[in-house]
Amino acid sequence: MSENSSPLIVVVSGPGGVGKGTIVDRLVARDPRLWLSRSWTTRDRREGESADAYVFCSAEDFEARIEANGFLEWTEFLGNYYGTPAPDTSAVDGRDVVLEIELDGARQVKQQFPDAVLIFLLPPSREEQERRLRGRGDPNDKIFARLKKAEAEEPIGREIADHVLTNDDLEQTISDMLAVIAIERSRH
Ligand code: ADP
Ligand code: 5GP
Repeated sequence: MSENSSPLIVVVSGPGGVGKGTIVDRLVARDPRLWLSRSWTTRDRREGESADAYVFCSAEDFEARIEANGFLEWTEFLGNYYGTPAPDTSAVDGRDVVLEIELDGARQVKQQFPDAVLIFLLPPSREEQERRLRGRGDPNDKIFARLKKAEAEEPIGREIADHVLTNDDLEQTISDMLAVIAIERSRH
C-alpha cells in the first residue's frame, strides 16, 4: 500500500491493439499491491477473449447503472458503452488501482482525482499495431476503425499523459511500467 491513505490510481491508455490488456494483466500478476478494475461493456465478446475480460452486458443494464450513479466514469467508444464501476473498497483492500480505459475516461478520472497517473502507450508503428490487431483476430472493419481512432487520439494522449511509453518489447515495457509505478508511489 502507498504511504498516502488513498490508493494511487494508475490509468493505462493507448490505441487498440497496442497491448494494454496484455500489459495490465502482467502488471497485476507481478505486483500483488496492484488491483485491476474490471470494466463493463456492451460490445460483444471477441472469439478467444476471456469471459472475465469485462462484465459483458446489455445497453439496458448499462444505462440502468448510469442512472444509479454506479460508474466512476463511462463513455461511448466506436458504438459501444464502456465504463468503470465505482470500486468496492473491500475488494480493492488497500491496493493501488489500475484502470485500462480510453482517453475520454482517462480525462474524467483525472478531473475527479488529480493525483491519478496516466500512462499512454504507443505502438512501435501503425503497421505493427495493425499486425497485432490482425493477430488477435479482429475483423477488417474493426481494424480500420481502431487505426483511424488511433490517429485521432495519439496527439491528445501525448498531451494529457504523465508518461508516454512505446510498447515494442513486451518485457521491457513491463519493467518500464513497474519503474514508473515505483516512482509515482514514492511521490504519492
Ligand atoms: P489492447 O488491449 O491494447 O487492445 P492487446 O493486449 O489485446 O491490446 O494486444 C493486442 C495483441 O498484441 C495481442 O495479441 C498481444 O498478445 C499482442 N502484443 C502485446 N504486446 C506486444 C508486444 N510488445 N509485441 C508483440 N505483440 C504484442
Ligand atoms: P476494447 O473493445 O478494445 O476492449 O476496448 C476499446 C477501448 O475502450 C480501449 O481503448 C479500452 O481501453 C477502452 N475501455 C475499456 N474499458 C473501459 C472503461 O471502463 N472506460 C473507458 N472510458 N474506456 C474503457
